[in-house]
Amino acid sequence: MKKVVIVGGGIAGMTAGILLQKAGFTTEIFEKNAVPGGQCTGWKREGYLIDNCIHWLTGTREGSGLHELWKEIGALGDGVEVIEKEMFFSAKLDGKVLTFWRDKERTRRELLALSPEDEKEINKLMDYVELAETMTVPVEKPFDAMSLLDFMKLGMSMKEMGKVMKEYGNMDLKELAMRFRHPLIQHAIVDYMPSGYQAYAFVVSYGTVTGGNGDIPRGGSLAMAMRIADRYRESGGILHTNANVAKVLLNGKRAEGVLLADGTRVEADYVVCACDTDYTFRALLPAGCMPKALKKQYEERDKYPVGSGFQIAYAVDGIFPEITDTRIFPCEEILVGKQTVQRMSIQSYYYEPAFAPEGKMVLQSNFAQNEEDYSYWESLYSDRTAYEQKKKEIAGQALERVVAEYPALAGKIRVLDVWTPMTYTRYCNSYKGAYMSFVTTKQAKSITVPGTIKGLKNVLLASQWLMGPGGLPTAAAMGKYAAWRIIKKG
Ligand SMILES: Cc1cc2nc3c(=O)[nH]c(=O)nc-3n(C[C@H](O)[C@H](O)[C@H](O)COP(=O)(O)OP(=O)(O)OC[C@H]3O[C@@H](n4cnc5c(N)ncnc54)[C@H](O)[C@@H]3O)c2cc1C
Repeated sequence: MKKVVIVGGGIAGMTAGILLQKAGFTTEIFEKNAVPGGQCTGWKREGYLIDNCIHWLTGTREGSGLHELWKEIGALGDGVEVIEKEMFFSAKLDGKVLTFWRDKERTRRELLALSPEDEKEINKLMDYVELAETMTVPVEKPFDAMSLLDFMKLGMSMKEMGKVMKEYGNMDLKELAMRFRHPLIQHAIVDYMPSGYQAYAFVVSYGTVTGGNGDIPRGGSLAMAMRIADRYRESGGILHTNANVAKVLLNGKRAEGVLLADGTRVEADYVVCACDTDYTFRALLPAGCMPKALKKQYEERDKYPVGSGFQIAYAVDGIFPEITDTRIFPCEEILVGKQTVQRMSIQSYYYEPAFAPEGKMVLQSNFAQNEEDYSYWESLYSDRTAYEQKKKEIAGQALERVVAEYPALAGKIRVLDVWTPMTYTRYCNSYKGAYMSFVTTKQAKSITVPGTIKGLKNVLLASQWLMGPGGLPTAAAMGKYAAWRIIKKG
């Protein structure tokens, strides 16, 4: 029985592990943290659960290859309840609120009532959202292994997306926003995602929600990661936690195994690097082995930016039903990292009573951070006292602004935890603190990187970084592709 060592127990690594176990391989996953799941995680603070990933899980609707994959690895199925999202998010300006509902016709009506002069663009946007509901993430086999017939079938299944891409494929969200006259619509379109994202990203994400394909499994991110880890162990895999891998051991064109940070050598027939790809080629493998397509994206920083967040969790004493899902609202100016922010988000986990003690609730704010902000946090991190002080200061200011927006929270809300882009680097070895992959900008088309490495026969990559913009479906698909290649080789 051939043995595969997998570096990283995130969604990509565990997906590869489960599929390889099922195919008869012996596998071991080495995860540096105490808990598996990587960025798909959550943690307890003072009786509250801080969920840190799933805002929507693409693939919750039955009938797609991705849905089957989620079931196969234990993310969905087996009685896992799926919570239907009522809305994508809402945005506020000048006292008015615009909501992107699950019910797209309700959104269309509200948009038209808000801004009749934008009728043409509103109808176009909402028609495209409907077309984007057909979007699927192909997970059967790697793109480079697909035949012409496979591509034709894929193209046919998503043919409606062609119209969306034709119109929105060459503009970014800022340009899309400026097609509308109403300031609230302009703001809303760039509120949820970075304004440099291609315009279709908004339509596809919202279409996932309206199409009932982007809901949330009960228990959130940590529970999902734990179910996948259980499935891996049940299939006979060995999951080592607190097991930091220092190096992939190479002998010419072959890997012999890995060396753990504690000096242990683990032999293997195959090694799958299922962690951040920048880290992989800085620490585990020689930098020169990085696939060209990946290198290009790391080198062209303007074309392939990455993003992270400055995040705050609040404990609330009481239940406030008026705070639902995610709302972005205008606030008094606040400096977060290097950015002066005038709008901020508040997200409620009202749909998960178990995330807070009875009669209480947990809220979060996430301030988008770019690479410049990352450099700021990285340099501040060298002085831990100053770093902690700055986190506290910004969180305090954010809390004041939340209370200004929701005065009923006065005296009933406090900061539970604060984390920055540096947290992701420390926790997951993430490149510039990013928790998604390269942003798909209009200057640069998305690149899919095959998970193979030229010159290294038995080492594979499995990570969301192989296909922008990343996310859970990409991580699972890349894990499956790595397993597929190994199974094929035998
Ligand atoms: C705030 C936030 C919100 C998000 N929202 C969504 C969402 O709504 N929907 C969605 O689809 N996606 C979302 N994502 C993105 C999603 O979490 C990621 O795309 C996905 O989890 C990445 O999985 P991965 O396996 O590729 O990488 P990772 O999760 O980074 O896993 C890699 C693993 O490798 C481990 N590792 C690294 N170095 C070593 C080493 N030397 N030795 C051993 N182990 C190592 C890491 O600790 C980690 O566990 C969100 C992420 C965040 C943080």
